[in-house]
Amino acid sequence: MGIFSDEILAIFVPIVVYWVYSAMYMALGHSMDKYRLHSRSEEDSKNLVSKSEVIKGVLLQQLVQAAVAAVVFTFSLAMVVLDGWQYAWHRYMHLNRFLYRHIHSWHHRLVVPYAFGSQYNHPVEGLLLDTLGGALAFVVSGMSPRASIFFFSLCTVKGVDDHCGLWLPGNVFHLCFWNNTAYHDVHHQLRGNRFNFSQPFFITWDKLFGTHMPYVVEKRAGGVPTAHSRHCKSNIPFVWKLSSGKLP
Ligand SMILES: [Zn+2]
Ligand SMILES: [Zn+2]
Repeated sequence: MGIFSDEILAIFVPIVVYWVYSAMYMALGHSMDKYRLHSRSEEDSKNLVSKSEVIKGVLLQQLVQAAVAAVVFTFSLAMVVLDGWQYAWHRYMHLNRFLYRHIHSWHHRLVVPYAFGSQYNHPVEGLLLDTLGGALAFVVSGMSPRASIFFFSLCTVKGVDDHCGLWLPGNVFHLCFWNNTAYHDVHHQLRGNRFNFSQPFFITWDKLFGTHMPYVVEKRAGGVPTAHSRHCKSNIPFVWKLSSGKLP
């Protein structure tokens, strides 16, 4: 599609259509007075804002909309690319005994994750999953270096959130993503580490390849540990539990 992708055209063509279609009616309004609902003089005298102010206001709104749409599209594409890369390598590291034993097992030393354990990985894993995956997402999405500051910060915050060990009410990541603190916590448990490989944003790859483990987060009565958390010594108020009660 030439130098413009469909996604870019979807953002800017409606803006062009808006001004072209509006210009047609403005031209008709000048030459077809007998069809007007209001006179031209009323249009100028009764309106509380001038036409030049309306043009500036509309352009500002369209600029904001186009910028947000471009960022959402670019970030969404980068998220899909990063998720696909990380799912493939993450799952392979669990399948390949050598890679698991010597590299990925570092991260799984944390059976009960906490915030700054998020990036506790073997350096090779950090390079392979995070650095190369991030570079691929950056190149494929075509985001600017400035945008990448926000994208990689988002990835970092999401990773920390997924390992924070807290099921806080109102957590925006818990509201926006099925892949969240509890979802990844399941993967860190000894029973769960053959499931929920998807990270950091979506659960799509787990769903597609049958590695999705269903669960529910339940509030414990009085902080009494359940069968799934007998090893826990503290009164943790929440615990994830398989919705089926057994491995899928
Ligand atoms: Zn893992
Ligand atoms: Zn983890």
